[in-house]
Amino acid sequence: MDLNTDFTMTIDGKPVTSASTIPVINPATGEAFAQAPDCAPEQLEAAVASAQSAFKSWRRVPLEERQALVAKAGARLTENAEALARLFTREQGRPVQGAQLEIAGAGAWMQAVAGMSPPVHVSEDSAQQLIETRYVPLGVICAIAPWNFPVNLAMWKLAPALVAGNTMVLKPSPFTPLCTLKIGELFRDIFPPGVLNVVSGGDELGPRMTAHPGFAKISFTGSTATGKRVMEAAAKDLKRLTLELGGNDAAIVMPDVDLDEVAQKVFFGAFFNSAQICVATKRLYVHEAVYDGLRDRLLAIAKATKVGDGAEQGTGLGPIQNRRQYERVLELLDDARANKLTLLQGGEVPQNGYFIPVTIVDNPPESARVVQEEAFGPILPILKFSDVDAVIERANDSPYGLAGAVWSKDVERAVEIARRLETGTVWVNQNLYLRPDTPFAGHKQSGFGIENGQEGLLEYMAPQAVYVARA
Ligand code: NAD
Repeated sequence: MDLNTDFTMTIDGKPVTSASTIPVINPATGEAFAQAPDCAPEQLEAAVASAQSAFKSWRRVPLEERQALVAKAGARLTENAEALARLFTREQGRPVQGAQLEIAGAGAWMQAVAGMSPPVHVSEDSAQQLIETRYVPLGVICAIAPWNFPVNLAMWKLAPALVAGNTMVLKPSPFTPLCTLKIGELFRDIFPPGVLNVVSGGDELGPRMTAHPGFAKISFTGSTATGKRVMEAAAKDLKRLTLELGGNDAAIVMPDVDLDEVAQKVFFGAFFNSAQICVATKRLYVHEAVYDGLRDRLLAIAKATKVGDGAEQGTGLGPIQNRRQYERVLELLDDARANKLTLLQGGEVPQNGYFIPVTIVDNPPESARVVQEEAFGPILPILKFSDVDAVIERANDSPYGLAGAVWSKDVERAVEIARRLETGTVWVNQNLYLRPDTPFAGHKQSGFGIENGQEGLLEYMAPQAVYVARA
């Protein structure tokens, strides 16, 4: 079979191929359908050198011009969402409509970030002196993205970093490099050469980048385990760091909810993108009065949801994105079976490809691996509770602190409970919704630093205090 090799890296504003390539696998078939460049060490050197050289002039481009170029890039991404969506589905697995939403949404997100500006704080403006603090860019950003929302999470880094006046070398996951390489191509004539470099490669490329002394900052989204390795690598040169890591989000369902409505919304929050979302509901605590009703409704939705190739009409949920993750989810299922947990499953799934039926684990013990660990796949433990204080404690008893949700008709009470959750984001009667102007920051081992909002923009800048004597 001929593989599509029409993918190039972007280095110094030019298309770059490589001597060796990495295969890209369609998770719905388990077969390679394309080859992506495998960035050689000297090509990474060229990308960093180009970004360093471009930084000298890009930082001096007026803020309004940088904002306008990022907005233009965002508009171009949205215009190309339909064209890119099929490629997205082939490499990532998500059904086409959801793929298109991510790409168009990422473009709109960039346009929103392009409207943000760093503040200037004046501490004193007197006859004696002017003291003001302004914000300056850092240098070359090393941006590393995961495979679950490959376009969105890369643009969350690109937009604020470039608005702030930095330049960038962006690396997608080896499992989903293609759309990001195409985006590099789409933006080639928008940004001056070297401002945005896009490189792809295998497992060695990430560590090679984080160890490179040419970067001023690493912005990383991925697992907590890898995040810790990135932090170690950053220590050597005291590189600045933003880490958006794993989560094991709890949702609490109070007894007064409308079960039909909440079942639909909770199902979406737990299983959208085949549950491969950092802020998906991964532990569902349900009050005993409504436990059976919600469990049965969730199972009915699972049975009615078609799991299959995202390229086919009518598919609700696609495959697990890659074999490594697929095997990890299978192992968690085996562990649940070995411990005699009750598994309730949705319908048939295709035999080829990395498919797992939607699985609900019926009231497992709190100590079960499927409760304690981030599954990052469609296995949702639902757990019974009767006492609110006790369930808040159970929800908070986790090394993670990414997001959480509370469902109740008594909004005031729900907000009270939500505020007691030890997470960076909490939702009341909704989930998964995030905005570009609102900070997103994992607590505990879910992260280090902030993305989005003005706080997220300032993570790509350093304050500079200017003291001017007047008298
Ligand atoms: P991962 O940590 O395996 O990989 C993420 C990226 O890091 C990839 O590009 C990979 O090539 C690179 N990488 C791997 N090892 C590296 C190393 N030693 N040094 C530098 N780079 C390295 O994560 P993943 O499996 O791609 O993504 C899933 C995880 O990401 C889940 O835990 C999920 O919760 C988390 N996630 C978090 C957020 C968030 O915003 N908090 C968003 C999405 C995903």
